[in-house]
Amino acid sequence: MLQPEEIKKAAAAIGFDGCGVVAARRLDHSLERFRDWLQAGHHSSLGYLERNIEKRFDPALLVEGARTVIVCAVSYKSPISEGYPTDHRTKVASYGCNRDYHVTLKEMLRELLASLQKGHPTLSGRAFVDSAPVAEKQWAVEAGLGWIGRQSLLITPKFGSFIHLGVLIINETCESYDSRFEGSRCGTCRACLEACPTHAILEGERMIDTGRCIACHTIEKQPTTDIDLDGWIFGCDACQSCCPYNHHAPMHRHTAFDPLFDPRTLAPSDWQLMTEEEFKNHLGTTPLTRSGLARIQENIKSKEITLRLRRAHTLA
Ligand code: SF4
Ligand code: SF4
Repeated sequence: MLQPEEIKKAAAAIGFDGCGVVAARRLDHSLERFRDWLQAGHHSSLGYLERNIEKRFDPALLVEGARTVIVCAVSYKSPISEGYPTDHRTKVASYGCNRDYHVTLKEMLRELLASLQKGHPTLSGRAFVDSAPVAEKQWAVEAGLGWIGRQSLLITPKFGSFIHLGVLIINETCESYDSRFEGSRCGTCRACLEACPTHAILEGERMIDTGRCIACHTIEKQPTTDIDLDGWIFGCDACQSCCPYNHHAPMHRHTAFDPLFDPRTLAPSDWQLMTEEEFKNHLGTTPLTRSGLARIQENIKSKEITLRLRRAHTLA
């Protein structure tokens, strides 16, 4: 049997900023909420969200003999997270400027697993970072790390929402578990609702409509003139940069999350003239490779088309 303190100590030594442990079980309430959200069509064309629904909320379906869910959080906040000048037209979500977090977090979680196995040789488990159907945010709430903000992201009291979450599901029980984070500390704040350029945040539901969300439209969906990307070419931080919890959060500490480039110094022409080779050489380890250079260049054009249409509409 594990002690929660030994897990947290090992996680901190690896560089995680937060860690919570929770008994593995099916999260029925979260499963129902997710089903309602799907039924309302807010996942729009992201059809993959309809698959493996049960697995998202039941660790036993992912890891045989699952007993404990370890949720780890690490901050990636950088000066880029704090926002762009209003006229900047090639904005990149701050996580996109770092080494791909999927790779870094998987390495960190595997290191944590190996560290725990030293004292518990029969312990086995599996690490999850966005790549498999795991409801990381809901597990983070269960593990006491924070609450789901109005913009649907996990907010931690100390590190805000510019954090990555990773989950380790293991086959050993823990002597005690963390308590669920009850309630929300958003209070009367509505900053994210007001900052969202496309009104994608569903009022009162702590969910977003992916059909309107710029983060989805710049990466996973085809560019469309129906949605003004508001100068974002990869992801969107607008509902996070405005959050008071992020204003008070410290900058990231783990050097693996140091930005590899600064999009604030790049103009649209720098992106349009960039060759595939330059993209690969300079940005090949960042999450930008998920969409690729061609898509980023298309997003810039989509913005230009929207601006032209808007101007034409104003003149008409
Ligand atoms: S990521 Fe951008 S578009 Fe999506 S909900 Fe947040 S502010 Fe709105
Ligand atoms: S901006 Fe305000 S309402 Fe939105 S998540 Fe942060 S605290 Fe909550």
